[in-house]
Amino acid sequence: QKITIAIDGFSSTGKSTVAKQLAKHLEYIYVDSGAMYRAVTYYAMKYGFIDATQFDVVGLVSKLHDIVVYFELNEKTGSADVYLNGENIEIPIRTLEVSNYVSQVAAIPEVRYQLVKQQHKMGSEKGVVMDGRDIGTVVFPDAELKLFMTASAETRATRRYDELTLKGDIVTYNDVLHNIEERDYMDSNREDSPLRKADDAIEIDNSNLSLDEQFQKILKLAEA
Ligand code: C5P
Repeated sequence: QKITIAIDGFSSTGKSTVAKQLAKHLEYIYVDSGAMYRAVTYYAMKYGFIDATQFDVVGLVSKLHDIVVYFELNEKTGSADVYLNGENIEIPIRTLEVSNYVSQVAAIPEVRYQLVKQQHKMGSEKGVVMDGRDIGTVVFPDAELKLFMTASAETRATRRYDELTLKGDIVTYNDVLHNIEERDYMDSNREDSPLRKADDAIEIDNSNLSLDEQFQKILKLAEA
């Protein structure tokens, strides 16, 4: 019996890692909803709606119908890459620059409306793992399993810093920590769907769990 699994939590709490492990093991579809918000942000930066001096929300909203975001399997990595209007943007959406603007873009109600609609469609059949900030509360309030991932901001910043520097990005630990704290703040204080734990979500603090311990713990919940 396939189910819907919603995984929410603050940035860099390891949501996507465990979501991918689960999807692979259970042969479910994995949807990284954060990648969709990052894709719209990438579009906004690429076409000049956002730069150091301005943020043209009205202009961006007027172009939303032009923004087609979808996922396609990458045979090499075995996981899905995100595409924007035919361009594979899996790598550029992960930069600190995109991370610095994404929560502002995600706060635009029209952007959320459009992406939530697409997420509904992507998860219309059971057998999906979706991670994000509002999956258990807004996108799939009826999900059979809801998880809420937490870890301290410092633990998360260390993980994200290691990840970025491993890829060769030039960043400082403090910039990464600052970005995580800013996004936590904006994501929790958004007007229409603020990040919060759904009442029926199970909280997983993974500060002191190895990846395998975490996976085994969550797999048991999914199979229960
Ligand atoms: O998950 P990730 O850190 O890639 O998400 C990037 C940003 O996208 C978050 O900080 C948040 O602002 C936004 N987001 C959201 N709702 C979701 C997923 C992500 O607002 N369901």
